[in-house]
Amino acid sequence: MLRCRDTMSLLHDYLEGTLDPDLRRQLDEHLADCPGCLGFLNTYRHTVSVAGDFRSEDIPAELRRKLRSFIKQKIEKRSLLARLRGKLRGSSS
Ligand SMILES: [Zn+2]
Repeated sequence: MLRCRDTMSLLHDYLEGTLDPDLRRQLDEHLADCPGCLGFLNTYRHTVSVAGDFRSEDIPAELRRKLRSFIKQKIEKRSLLARLRGKLRGSSS
């Protein structure tokens, strides 16, 4: 079973269609019952499609840096939330 933080590193390949079929299936299953990751996927997909309108060499280095740190922040925030949620769940049982 994939954890939320695992899905993040798979999204790029998932959207590129290059993800291993078995992982892809596991990711689909995770997304089916994890609204958080599904929301992230949609944000990521949007970001990629916006960025995809440019060839990477047409994107100014400054913007590329910002884009990368934006995505990184999103990922870190997500995995932090997932960790916190896991802790809460653990303490309530
Ligand atoms: Zn998730």
